[in-house]
Amino acid sequence: DSFKEADLGEIINENLELCKYTVPTPVQKYAIPIIAGKRDLMACAQTGSGKTAAFLLPVLSQLYAEGPGESHKATTSNQRSRRKLFPLGLILSPTRELASQIYDEARKFSYRSHVRPCVVYGGADVGAQMRDLDRGCHLLVATPGRLVDFIQRGKIGLNYIRFVVLDEADRMLDMGFEPQIRKIVEQSDMTTKGERQTLMFSATFPKEIQILARDFLDNYIFLAV
Ligand code: AMP
Repeated sequence: DSFKEADLGEIINENLELCKYTVPTPVQKYAIPIIAGKRDLMACAQTGSGKTAAFLLPVLSQLYAEGPGESHKATTSNQRSRRKLFPLGLILSPTRELASQIYDEARKFSYRSHVRPCVVYGGADVGAQMRDLDRGCHLLVATPGRLVDFIQRGKIGLNYIRFVVLDEADRMLDMGFEPQIRKIVEQSDMTTKGERQTLMFSATFPKEIQILARDFLDNYIFLAV
């Protein structure tokens, strides 16, 4: 078993080598072809299973295959300062710690590509996060509350969102983020209906998660590893 079979492209292959990832974990082995095949996915996977790379690799691979043309247009608006940002990919995470880990992994896999990842979370200075966003943002990793804050400030627009990942969805619900998550996904619904690929990862699959999956995912594949 190797990542080569998944055919994720030159940039991913080089970065996998730099990271010394040679053998895919089970969730990577099964989820990557599903996501690369542009299907929505509901995956039950634990922390430590390698689920971060399982969604980052095929999402980044699709963004690389499209090249910088589209994303440049989407991420740039009028003036350089105080501009509104339009990321193409969005990853929602319950905590600052998890968001930072996902961001670190996204940085590794976007090395030497046109894709610029950013991370925003609560409990930290908004100004510094604003300035980082101003340098461009194709892939945004965010906690739900802080993202809603940036949307309300008119800093982030979800009009061009092509990929939405809900990571540790059960924990986000436990933390009371359901209203924010619904608001965010509904915003990305209005403008990219049918063009958005949505992926949910959760350690457990209780009724509330099944309802979210029904509401957010389109003709999805269910994976338990
Ligand atoms: P995660 O479950 O995504 O938090 O990943 C758990 C840990 O495994 C992280 O430190 C990853 O960097 C590492 N990891 C993920 N996939 C692989 C792989 N295929 N080979 C080696 N390490 C990996």
